[in-house]
Amino acid sequence: MNSFTYTRTDAIDAAVRERASEPTAKFIAGGTNLIDLMKESVERPTRLIDITRLPLTTITDTVNGGLRLGALVKNADTAYNEQVIQRYPLLSQTILAGASPQLRNMATDGGNLLQRTRCYYFYDIATPCNKREPGSGCSAINGFNRIHAILGTSPADRTNGTAEPHCIATHPSDMCVALAALEAEVRVKGPNGERTIAFSDFHRLPGNTPDIDNTLEPNELITSIDLPAKGFPKYYAYLKLRDRASYAFALVSVAVALEMDESDGRGDIITDARIALGGVAHKPWRKPEAETLLVGKPATKENFRAAAELLLAGAQGFGHNTFKIELAKRAIVRALGQAAKLEPTA
Ligand SMILES: Cc1cc2nc3c(=O)[nH]c(=O)nc-3n(C[C@H](O)[C@H](O)[C@H](O)COP(=O)(O)OP(=O)(O)OC[C@H]3O[C@@H](n4cnc5c(N)ncnc54)[C@H](O)[C@@H]3O)c2cc1C
Ligand code: SF4
Repeated sequence: MNSFTYTRTDAIDAAVRERASEPTAKFIAGGTNLIDLMKESVERPTRLIDITRLPLTTITDTVNGGLRLGALVKNADTAYNEQVIQRYPLLSQTILAGASPQLRNMATDGGNLLQRTRCYYFYDIATPCNKREPGSGCSAINGFNRIHAILGTSPADRTNGTAEPHCIATHPSDMCVALAALEAEVRVKGPNGERTIAFSDFHRLPGNTPDIDNTLEPNELITSIDLPAKGFPKYYAYLKLRDRASYAFALVSVAVALEMDESDGRGDIITDARIALGGVAHKPWRKPEAETLLVGKPATKENFRAAAELLLAGAQGFGHNTFKIELAKRAIVRALGQAAKLEPTA
């Protein structure tokens, strides 16, 4: 049994101060991931700082025409917010593709970004896991790795000087795949003040330090997620492929946001493209070259497949998950077709 203390505060500065004064404390928001990890003894905080009463529960306009999602807005409230539905339907769709209604009613937007991998070995403290216990090894590489990464795993950068990867875990969030495509920003506050992190820099690849999931400092609090003005409300799609039709994490997911030239009345030339993949890497995966390749081109399966090949360049399977490479390519082609309204979304 791990004992811990529990405190609750309704002031942002006090929460940040409390966290900084006790390095082994943790913030708790909806608790849908942290409590599970504590039950399995993966996380053992000495204190829980309940942040659910901080004034970060609203969705408001930003001065540059975007939308600010308070870190403590519930996932369900974000998905059903009228502004989000009208201006950022891709985000609404990705949130509703995740978890269950009950979980979305508890889970917060800030917590969603910080949820940890669903790698089975990470949750099983009887097995070696470099993410949980650096240096102990990775049970997934030669184990059952159906849900694991095919892109950006440690051997791709070989920073450890060996061919043995440190970690092949994926980031499990659906919401984050849309936030990557929309190029959101994460606003955070720590003892040294506030800063803003581009979404592409928020999550990181495992490299030599797979125990570190993101670039948030341990004593920083996420205060909001800011969406830019451009929301791609007309041409978008989120395709999530999983082992069960609901209540399951993605094996592969694709968020697509397009703009199309409608001047000829047909809207078949792509003028802007964003493609983000989930379930394939330690962070939502984007490749600017694959998006640029589509700009100025007609929306055809051949062009979509060329973009898919670029996005998956360098992908590596580990046995049980090798099927994901072709699956991801096909999913990209289908999602692009759905976003361009060439095929139905169902
Ligand atoms: C059975 C099940 C199925 C699920 N299926 C899916 C799915 O299909 N797709 C999907 O995307 N997700 C899924 N989830 C994950 C769920 O979305 C996350 O657990 C949830 O979003 C986490 O939010 P929370 O507020 O509950 O975070 P918590 O559990 O409270 O916290 C998670 C982490 O974030 C930290 N934290 C929280 N808020 C802040 C903040 N503002 N600043 C700094 N640190 C903070 C905490 O200290 C903790 O480390 C599932 C979860 C479960 C249990
Ligand atoms: S893939 Fe990462 S999280 Fe899973 S066992 Fe290996 S080191 Fe741990």
